[in-house]
Amino acid sequence: MPHEIEVEQYLGCLTNALDAVSQAVFVHDSSGTLIFDNAAARDLGAARHEEAGLMRAIEEAIASGRAGRFKDRSFSIFGPPRRDFSIRTRPASPERQHIVVTVIEDLTIRNQLDTIRRDFVANVSHELRTPIGALGLLAETLAFEEDPKVRQRLANRIQNEAFRVSKIIDDLLDLSRIESEGASQQADIDFVELVTEVLDQAAPAAELAGVSLQFELSGSNFMYHGDKRQLRSALANLVDNSIKYSEKESSVNLELTRTPSTIEISVIDHGIGIPQKDLERIFERFYRVDQARSRQTGGTGLGLSIVRHAVGNHNGVVEVESREGSGSTFRIVLPTKGEEQK
Ligand code: ADP
Repeated sequence: MPHEIEVEQYLGCLTNALDAVSQAVFVHDSSGTLIFDNAAARDLGAARHEEAGLMRAIEEAIASGRAGRFKDRSFSIFGPPRRDFSIRTRPASPERQHIVVTVIEDLTIRNQLDTIRRDFVANVSHELRTPIGALGLLAETLAFEEDPKVRQRLANRIQNEAFRVSKIIDDLLDLSRIESEGASQQADIDFVELVTEVLDQAAPAAELAGVSLQFELSGSNFMYHGDKRQLRSALANLVDNSIKYSEKESSVNLELTRTPSTIEISVIDHGIGIPQKDLERIFERFYRVDQARSRQTGGTGLGLSIVRHAVGNHNGVVEVESREGSGSTFRIVLPTKGEEQK
C-alpha cells in the first residue's frame, strides 16, 4: 500500500496524463454524480449548448452503463459540417460495476481522411481503367487486322493510350512528391529564366494549337529562393492549360510582376473560360469542367492540384478569375523572403 503522499502524487500524475489526451473522459458514480472529468471533457461540457445532441447521447450512454449495460456507440452531427464521435462506456473495475467511465472521441478528421483516401483510390482506378480497357481492345483488333493502313492507325492509337496512362502515373507521382516533401530542394531561382524555360518548352504545343505566347515584365529583381522543380511544374501546368483551353489564333500572355513583398506570375488566356460554379472545384484532384475536352487534349485532371500544392509549399496562393467564353487568368502570388521572415 503506497504512503498517502505517494498516492496523492500518483493521482496527480494520472490526472495530468488524462488532461493530456485528446479524448474526453468522464467518470460517474452509481448515483450518476460526476466524480472526474479531464480537460477535454471539461471543454465539451463548456460547449454543452452547441453540442446539445451529443451531450444527450452521452447522458443516455452513462444511464445505460449505470444500469449495467455497457456498449460502444457512434454519434454523428450531420451539420454541415458533419462531425462524428464514438462514445464508449466501461465499468471502473470488475468490483465497481456501477461506477461508469465514459470516453468520447472526435472521429471527424480520421473519417474525412478515410473518405479522401477511399475516393482517391476509386478515382485513380477509374481513370486508369478507361485507357487500359482501350489498350486491350485495340491490341485484340490489331492481332486480327491485315490491312497495313488500319494496322498503322491502331498502332498509333495504342501509342496514344499508353502515353495517357504514363501521363496519369507521372502526374500522380509528381503530386505525391510535392504533397509529401514540402519545398525541399531550395535553390536561388531567377524567375525571368524560369518563365523563359517554361515558354520554350511550351512553344511546340502552342504552335500546334495556333496560339501565340507573349511575355511581359514589370519591375526588377526576380530572384527568389525556393524549389525550382516544383515552381517550374506549377507554371508549366498553367501554361499548358492556357494553350489547351484556347481557340486557334488566340494569344496567351504571361506577366511577371515584382511588388515590394511578392513575385506574381499571371497566365492570361482568351479561351473557353470556366463557369462560375466550377471555379471552387477545379483545384480538386481529377475534377474537370468538361471531361471530353480534357481527355481529348490529354488532360489528367491533376494539373491544378499540382499547382496548388507547389505554390502552397512556398506559402503562396493561386488566384483565378474567369469568364465563360472570354478567358481565364491564373495568378501565382509568392511572398518574397523578406516578407516571409517578418
Ligand atoms: P486537366 O488535366 O483536365 O487540364 P487541371 O487540373 O489542369 O486538369 O484542370 C482542371 C480543369 O479545370 C480542366 O479540366 C478544365 O476544365 C479547367 N481549366 C483549367 N485551366 C483552364 C483554363 N485556362 N481555361 C479553361 N478551363 C480550364
